[in-house]
Amino acid sequence: MLNKKTIEQLNLKNKKVLVRCDFNVPMNEAGEITDDRRIRSALPTIEYIIENEGKVIIMSHFGRPKGKANHKYSLEPVAKVLADLLNREVIFIDEDSVVGEDAKKAAGEMQSGEVVLLQNTRFRSGEEKNDLDFAKELSSLADIFVNDAFGTAHRAHSSNVGVSEYLPSAVGFLVKKEIEIMGKAMVNPERPFIAILGGAKVSDKITVIENLMDKIDSLLIGGGMMFTFLKAKGYEVGKSLLEEDKIELAKRLMDKAEEKGVNMLLPVDAVVAKEFKNDTTFKTVKVSNIPKDMMGLDIGEETRKVFEQEIKKGKTILWNGPMGVFEMENFAKGTESIASAMAQAEGITIIGGGDSALAVEKTGLSDEMTHISTGGGASLEFFEGKSLPGIECIDNK
Ligand code: AMP
Repeated sequence: MLNKKTIEQLNLKNKKVLVRCDFNVPMNEAGEITDDRRIRSALPTIEYIIENEGKVIIMSHFGRPKGKANHKYSLEPVAKVLADLLNREVIFIDEDSVVGEDAKKAAGEMQSGEVVLLQNTRFRSGEEKNDLDFAKELSSLADIFVNDAFGTAHRAHSSNVGVSEYLPSAVGFLVKKEIEIMGKAMVNPERPFIAILGGAKVSDKITVIENLMDKIDSLLIGGGMMFTFLKAKGYEVGKSLLEEDKIELAKRLMDKAEEKGVNMLLPVDAVVAKEFKNDTTFKTVKVSNIPKDMMGLDIGEETRKVFEQEIKKGKTILWNGPMGVFEMENFAKGTESIASAMAQAEGITIIGGGDSALAVEKTGLSDEMTHISTGGGASLEFFEGKSLPGIECIDNK
């Protein structure tokens, strides 16, 4: 299905391969990486190049140093973790210019099977502008470009798009897997195809809902955005999150669901709270009984049961966005119940990155899912039906 060249189609022997990874990992104040999932996800591509006697030169961004060298955002801690995971030396090039004399020397002297990691590409102001001069400098280090950074594929930057102007290119195993699994769901899903959407606002998910409406069988709505839909159905929502200017749109989306035969399920009850904090008075009420002075912060128990039942029927189940304010323990049950229903479902389960991926990780159910996307923003744009520049730029098969 993927019409782009993949790493398996390249002759890598003795070739210098510039690999764009997404090593934008969470780090604590002490500079320790708290979740190495993104580094582990890059291993198949790196190991494949090593096994095929290529030379690996890795680029990544990390955090937001805003185009200037700032060692708070150095990739050095990543180099250490990567070396441990690969069980081999990773030569870290600590240059503010990313591509300086040291990088050129290291690239020139590399032997097959060696691994070099360049400094944070966002130390250079040209990176986020897709500056072609910076892209040319990066490209000058290598013979081939492999993009394996799905998390940044929705952005056109020098290190993931610009470099493709100067080098033959292919996608790595991670990008291939992301596109194949999510692409199959979009083009030829096993049915019933169920989508679960949550998160704060309807406005952030309009295009996703519209695009999915043509493909899915059921749509389950939770999170802050459920209240705009409930209001559109005539319920009072108290102090809950409400986008007044999207009520008409919510009505149109519900009409469209009916027209298309999509079974749209809205919550029948909600957990409402006095204040937006964990330690406050809260209770579960029917959506027809939301008190004026309270706000809905999670789906209720009855809704959880209805959603769980529906999820278990799915052959393809796609989830993006938490069902409630899952960061607060008292309002995390809805989100946890989706994670556990998906874990038990027999169908293909896809988590669209970001907060939902974090929630699944928290429940310890990650291994039970078919696919957890490594890119929140990128997967959202993918489900919106947009083409991703980081993939579009790669050579065709
Ligand atoms: P998003 O980035 O749009 O997926 O939204 C995720 C955020 O939505 C999380 O930080 C949740 O705490 C928040 N959220 C989920 N449900 C609600 C709600 N009922 N009221 C306010 N915020 C919510």
